[in-house]
Amino acid sequence: MKQKYQIAVIGGGHAGCEAALASARMGVDTVLLTLSKKSIGVMSCNPCIGGVGKGQLVKEIDALGGEMGINADYTGIQFRRLNTRKGSAVQSSRCQSDKRLYAERMHKIVEDQARLTVLEGEVKGLVEEGGQIRAVTVESAGTLHTFHVECAIITSGTFMRGVMHCGDSLSEGGRVGEKNSVGLSDDLARLGFPLLRLKTGTPPRLFAGSLDVSKLSEQWGDSPPQKFSFSETNIPLPQIACHLTFTNEETHRVIAKNLDRSPLYSGKIQGIGPRYCPSIEDKVVKFPEKPRHQIFLEPEGLDTDWIYPNGVSTSLPQDVQEAFIRTIPGCEKAEFARFGYAVEYDCIDARSLHHTLESKGVKGLYLAGQVNGTSGYEEAGAQGLVAGINAALKVRGEEPMILSRAESYIGVMVDDLVSKGVTEPYRMFTSRSEYRLSLREDNADARLRPIGIRIGLVSKEEGKRFEEKKALIESTLKKMKLFHVKQSEKNDAVLGRAGVPPLFQPESLLKLLKRPEIDFQTIKDLAAPELDLNLPAATAETLEIETKYEGYIKIQAQERERLERLQHTRIPDGFSFKTVDGLSFEVKEKLTHSQPKDLSEAARISGVTPAALTAILASLRGRKRSGSAQATV
Ligand code: FAD
Repeated sequence: MKQKYQIAVIGGGHAGCEAALASARMGVDTVLLTLSKKSIGVMSCNPCIGGVGKGQLVKEIDALGGEMGINADYTGIQFRRLNTRKGSAVQSSRCQSDKRLYAERMHKIVEDQARLTVLEGEVKGLVEEGGQIRAVTVESAGTLHTFHVECAIITSGTFMRGVMHCGDSLSEGGRVGEKNSVGLSDDLARLGFPLLRLKTGTPPRLFAGSLDVSKLSEQWGDSPPQKFSFSETNIPLPQIACHLTFTNEETHRVIAKNLDRSPLYSGKIQGIGPRYCPSIEDKVVKFPEKPRHQIFLEPEGLDTDWIYPNGVSTSLPQDVQEAFIRTIPGCEKAEFARFGYAVEYDCIDARSLHHTLESKGVKGLYLAGQVNGTSGYEEAGAQGLVAGINAALKVRGEEPMILSRAESYIGVMVDDLVSKGVTEPYRMFTSRSEYRLSLREDNADARLRPIGIRIGLVSKEEGKRFEEKKALIESTLKKMKLFHVKQSEKNDAVLGRAGVPPLFQPESLLKLLKRPEIDFQTIKDLAAPELDLNLPAATAETLEIETKYEGYIKIQAQERERLERLQHTRIPDGFSFKTVDGLSFEVKEKLTHSQPKDLSEAARISGVTPAALTAILASLRGRKRSGSAQATV
């Protein structure tokens, strides 16, 4: 067996696959070490990719040259655009995946990748010398091997000292049917990483044949489905429906009566769970005023009769799970394919990492995914990609890739993790970004494709397609600026259909598109046919949003530049935020609690608006003038 690789990736989950593919595709000799080859790319919980904020991450992974979006397209069985009635900044894509096919395809891509070796084994330890990672030790089939490496990327997910809970029953494991990882977190602690204990959970799985669909409402995806990837992919699988049902007072009564048997409430689980993805026990306790909670019954694939009841994650004992599930309309005779459970695991405090996800203490050692305190496939995949790219760039002797908060949700997430750390599993939301009008799904390629092309992760053909799309947008904008619509019977009718009165004077197509009532289809109807405005739907969408929101996007860009100029303005230790005029009580409390060191840190605290920053700045300047602080303003 070969004993030397440039990069070792530990773990074959969502982070590990992206990390290993990125580094191998960037020309670096890589080994992927994982507990079980069978579980490469496995979806531990929900059979779904994307969602609000998460869809943006998938698009960004794709724009940089990652695999998640492509895999989602080829294995998706229901695609939906969420929040379509809200502004474009918060619209996100989600697809339900065929769980088996998703993992199988990802496994094949990883196995077939040139310069990437996949080996089964448990990484037991890390060898560090002089502050630099030198090797990893792996136990495989009872034998200990040492692999010498220049960099190592740990993506061990929920496996480090993983313990699973279901009622009173407690067993060791990282995921149902899979052993946990012992030794790695001790080794990380030995190397100086602070550790935390977190928790997540999953619902039971039900057999489709045991559900009464006549009592359920059907939910179809979008038609036609919109794919994730900017690359040449398609959606080959048939699209299917989910069903919707609700819990009720009886469900809540059964849960409340048995709370003392929940390891969450009996004190058995110490790890902190995800606030934004609570268990059904938590929902019943924390929202007693809610008479019902929504449950999506999602098929796990095309050729399985397992149903994932999205919304009832639980670690209650099996008999209680049966009792409460059977109170739900359509589930009265539900048969269980698997019971829900919770898992507690070790993760590290990500403040011990640089923005490249490299350890501050051990050079060449990177960490990505759930092990950094996040939750979710998309968050894991995005970090894996960042770590894989940066480790490969390091091996190639090139400058690292650091994505800023202003250019990507990935940048927002990494910055949040490494500067603030976490106290509960971190998941992405659009509200985490200060610049979300600029960080949309549709323009993820404009923001990040050039980086993917530069580092060699995006193929030449895809690079060319991207340049062509850019050129098409530019030439269309030019045409729309030059073409003026005049008043005519036909144009009055087209405008009338959009609810716009006839024009008094000619107006350019570009100006007309800025009007809220007018969409790109109306522009096409108003344009002369020889103008040829037949754009692919995704290109037309970007052009429409950029035109309509140009003013807001410019203001956001100016605001960003202003804040970037000011970000190094230091806030002296002990500065009293309570004395700053113009701050709300809540913001004063948050600032006092967090004690940000400079204005950029203050800006990242939720609720701290640009206006609040201006107020803090004015106060700092006032103090400096009066000599009451040594603020470096
Ligand atoms: P994982 O997908 O966990 O992969 C870790 C990989 O590391 C595995 O391949 C494992 O074999 C390998 N590994 C670990 N230790 C070693 C070692 N020492 N040597 C070699 N290989 C090793 N996310 C949500 O968004 N919503 C949810 O509701 C949700 N519920 C969940 C419920 C459960 C029970 C579980 C287990 C997870 C849940 N998740 C949920 C989390 C989601 O599965 C993870 O966020 C995601 O899979 C993390 O990806 P990852 O690559 O970081 O780790």
